[in-house]
Amino acid sequence: MRTLIYADHAATTALSPAACAAMQPWLQDKYGNPSALYNLAREPHKAVATARETIAACIGARPEEIYFTSGGTEADNWALMGTAFRKLDRNGRIITSSIEHHAILHTCDFLKRMGYDVDLLPVNRQGLIMGETLKGYLRNETLLVSIMLANNEIGTIEPIKELAEIAHRHGCLFHTDAVQAVGHILIDVNNLGVDMLSASAHKFNGPKGIGFLYIRDGVTTESLLHGGVQENGQRAGTENVAGIVGMAVALQEHIERIEQETTYLQKLTDLLLQALRNAGLDFVVNGGDNRIPGSLSLSFRGVDGETLLHRLDLLGTAVATGSACDAKNPILSHVIRAIGVSDAYAHGTIRITLGMDNTIDQTSVLAEQISHILDK
Ligand code: PLP
Repeated sequence: MRTLIYADHAATTALSPAACAAMQPWLQDKYGNPSALYNLAREPHKAVATARETIAACIGARPEEIYFTSGGTEADNWALMGTAFRKLDRNGRIITSSIEHHAILHTCDFLKRMGYDVDLLPVNRQGLIMGETLKGYLRNETLLVSIMLANNEIGTIEPIKELAEIAHRHGCLFHTDAVQAVGHILIDVNNLGVDMLSASAHKFNGPKGIGFLYIRDGVTTESLLHGGVQENGQRAGTENVAGIVGMAVALQEHIERIEQETTYLQKLTDLLLQALRNAGLDFVVNGGDNRIPGSLSLSFRGVDGETLLHRLDLLGTAVATGSACDAKNPILSHVIRAIGVSDAYAHGTIRITLGMDNTIDQTSVLAEQISHILDK
């Protein structure tokens, strides 16, 4: 059965045609290893360098501060473990939040097993982490604070600039998982004041299996991958040239149309909410007002979110319940639990994340489909 309405852009996005075209030469004719010394290697080497410059410019960084990874998960693992492993006596604490992606939370579980301490910050009803809360958790042994820029389930944008300032005043490093934010809101790493930032190309119409970690000049981390001297000796492994080039093209495209995207997606989400309200449905919108454009987490009273998802799927519409990684796990998502959605609504949660490929018509149809299913 064909998916007619794709409304799960936080899980992944389609590869942009321009990115796809830009990737082709590096997969076939120009296949040289960028580290080699002959002519066939020169162009791929240059392509990686140019992509690094493009990506750096998109987030206000310097090219040498961008390290390519296999995606958001590797970038998150590197930021956390790379910082923790600098302290080999394992006497250190990491602070993160209770609503992070599992790429952060499960890495923290691993670090706990290695002997480190981890503090999980609570969030308010909107999923916001307050500066005062962070201040209460900082200890002398705290090495790193890692707070996501935007949440993948409820879209909440966190006050990263304020939180990074607090961490720095205390002498800790600050990392942000910006996988859901890069390409969708304007980011300047210097203005945010972060030391490290993770991103993933497939969340902004780039290819899957490629991402990057921004590491501020002067910040040192331990490497996770050992071998060759790629990525300035910090991340071994032959570069995914096509992926890197595709990621740069996709990110540049997003940055160029970011205002247009924000306005359009706001229009679509307003339309959807209005249509659901007009249909008289009883639901709450999770995540407060300052959210990633196009992102809606809705909890319907007395409904089973997973059943709703499957009924929508039968109609050719793709939405999520919790995060994509939780798709096979029927228990309530840790994010919905952390923001304290009441039991009557919590199990009826679906995540709708709209993108530029969604039309006004599709949005109206999606609202009709939900109303129709819930009416029954
Ligand atoms: N962090 C967040 C907030 C995410 O939403 C995701 C993916 O859903 C990841 C990290 C993992 O990224 P990747 O799929 O590139 O490994």
